[in-house]
Amino acid sequence: MLAKGILLEETFYPHDHETRLFRKTVKEWAEKYVAPVSQMLDRASEETVLEETRRIVKKSSEIRLLSLIVPEDLGGAGSLTYMGANSLEIISYYDAGIATSIGAVWLGLLPVFIAGVLDGGVSWQRWLSPFAASDEQGDPQIWAFAITEPTAGSDYERIEPGSKPEYVTVAKPEGDGGYRLTGRKIFISNGPIADYVTVFAVEDKERPLETMTCMVVEKGEFKVETVYDKMGHRSSPTGELVFEDVSIPKERVLCPPGTGWEVAEITLSYSRAPVGAIGLGIAKRSLEEAIFYAKTRLQGGKPIVEHQTIKMKIAGMIERVAVAEHTIYNVTRILEEKFPPPIEDSSIAKVVGADAAVHNAIEAIQVFGGIGYMRETGVEKLLRDAKLIQIYEGTNEINRLTFTEGLLGRLL
Ligand SMILES: Cc1cc2nc3c(=O)[nH]c(=O)nc-3n(C[C@H](O)[C@H](O)[C@H](O)COP(=O)(O)OP(=O)(O)OC[C@H]3O[C@@H](n4cnc5c(N)ncnc54)[C@H](O)[C@@H]3O)c2cc1C
Repeated sequence: MLAKGILLEETFYPHDHETRLFRKTVKEWAEKYVAPVSQMLDRASEETVLEETRRIVKKSSEIRLLSLIVPEDLGGAGSLTYMGANSLEIISYYDAGIATSIGAVWLGLLPVFIAGVLDGGVSWQRWLSPFAASDEQGDPQIWAFAITEPTAGSDYERIEPGSKPEYVTVAKPEGDGGYRLTGRKIFISNGPIADYVTVFAVEDKERPLETMTCMVVEKGEFKVETVYDKMGHRSSPTGELVFEDVSIPKERVLCPPGTGWEVAEITLSYSRAPVGAIGLGIAKRSLEEAIFYAKTRLQGGKPIVEHQTIKMKIAGMIERVAVAEHTIYNVTRILEEKFPPPIEDSSIAKVVGADAAVHNAIEAIQVFGGIGYMRETGVEKLLRDAKLIQIYEGTNEINRLTFTEGLLGRLL
């Protein structure tokens, strides 16, 4: 790989001085712990990935990355999306899978944060304080977030008007506010390495929205039935989790029945724009790789960067990076200021970042020509990593429906 991280420092979006210093810190951390193992983890065995990724995610406590979303008075940075997006962009530039695993910790913690806003801080004291303490001690808890089920992927991201989603994970009320949890969740990032998972479930399959709730399930209470063999993001372990009649005490129930959907929606409102930033990191890496290669590759008697067709490809890549960067950081600033955060803006940022990643990775391979198709250059990995961003966190189609219907609803 040729890139040097120049576009992580020379940004289109005018970050303030404090943010630039923060970005430098994250870049140095990623250069030290992520860059050296990225290619190795792309081809490593399942056992190596589980061990190494858990170790690297925990190493982020050196810069207290995982506590970014924890409120300041509980020992965190109190930034729900903007600082997280900055971190994910930079880490993804070096390895998108590690960025996904770090983002998945925040995704798992976000329902706890939201529950705390709604319950006057009880959930924060119960979960976020110990989490921040574990991070400070250098052994942070690893969290995951589980909504997707075999019968409900998009149906857990958005309800089609008039449809009745089929959910298989059921929580039967038990005792004084607790539950017995049975079911399964698929495609869960960090599932195989998680200490805690926030799980969404319904009390009554016939009345899913009216009875949906969310709870914290601990390691040992769920079985990891599958660790998926994926096309990209190979450094981020993804698992199928099975819950067999697990007893959940009421202290671990995050919200009353019927409010689970609201908690899921607000979680996704916060998380989608930072996921777009994972795409931005790949889009920047693709651009920088293409520029460096085009400057040194001679064809037709001159460096290929001097051919108009290559220059126009690079122009398109620059446009996508600039648009994604402005969109993602303007949106994450907005998300920090409003509660509940506007899901439509977050969806736009996710889609723009995801598409920038895929298109730029394709163009980078084309600029490299035949050698770009070979694994040794690493640019083909960028495309394999990029594709996921159009699929998870709600497919791009579902996100487009979300922001289009939102605007149509206001205009019509
Ligand atoms: C590697 C990976 C990591 C993931 N991590 C997590 C995680 O940590 N936690 C978690 O809960 N989930 C996770 N997911 C799940 C992810 O969010 C879902 O895969 C995604 O929401 C799509 O659901 P699906 O795969 O069931 O596809 P489907 O919902 O079956 O969609 C299939 C196709 O149909 C389209 N489609 C579906 N419904 C509609 C509709 N109503 N209108 C128009 N088009 C529609 C979709 O856009 C898509 O093109 C992960 C997935 C992957 C692959």
